[in-house]
Amino acid sequence: MDARDIALQGVMPTVMAPRYTELEQLDTPGNRILMAANGVWLEVCRAWLYARIRLAPPIRIPVPYGIVREEMRFGFGKLPKAMVAQFIELARVRSPNECAAWIIWNQRTDAWKLMMLEETSVGPGHVIVNLPTLESDEHLVMDLHSHGLTEAFFSRTDNKDDKGEVKIAGVIGNLNQAAVTASFRLGANGVFLPLPFECPQGQGGNT
Ligand SMILES: [Zn+2]
Repeated sequence: MDARDIALQGVMPTVMAPRYTELEQLDTPGNRILMAANGVWLEVCRAWLYARIRLAPPIRIPVPYGIVREEMRFGFGKLPKAMVAQFIELARVRSPNECAAWIIWNQRTDAWKLMMLEETSVGPGHVIVNLPTLESDEHLVMDLHSHGLTEAFFSRTDNKDDKGEVKIAGVIGNLNQAAVTASFRLGANGVFLPLPFECPQGQGGNT
């Protein structure tokens, strides 16, 4: 096989799910396609995440594969809701302009950090930022941005920006109101899974 194909397929190998034993799951950072009796799946492993997400229904012929179950596990204890609350307060100050931040998890110390991103251009309908460089133990877990006075939703620009990445993305909107709107999702190589999220703005927003 061509060396380029070997390299390409090494980045995203396709694995047949066994029928009579458990699938040996990916335990180092990477991605695989799983061919299973119940569909075609994406398997994603990161220091902070292990996920299996179904991409397509089963193919329409009998296949010699086993079943794969849906899975989403985080390598850290709990999502840092206090940092989302902190971001909301900072985004209120900057509203009606948008703003953006990363919530970073340190794998070695288990510490979280909220980092407001440096803007190169910003207004009420857009924010363009410089992406920070992380230390080797640091991982981008949540990518947050605000929509100023408009409501929270993932725009086409957001979908395009998130396409190739593995992260939790969050949008916060209606920042002039006591109860802001919020939308969260897990993005895994262009597959987006909505995540439930209770807005933590209760401490102070509502009187
Ligand atoms: Zn947006």
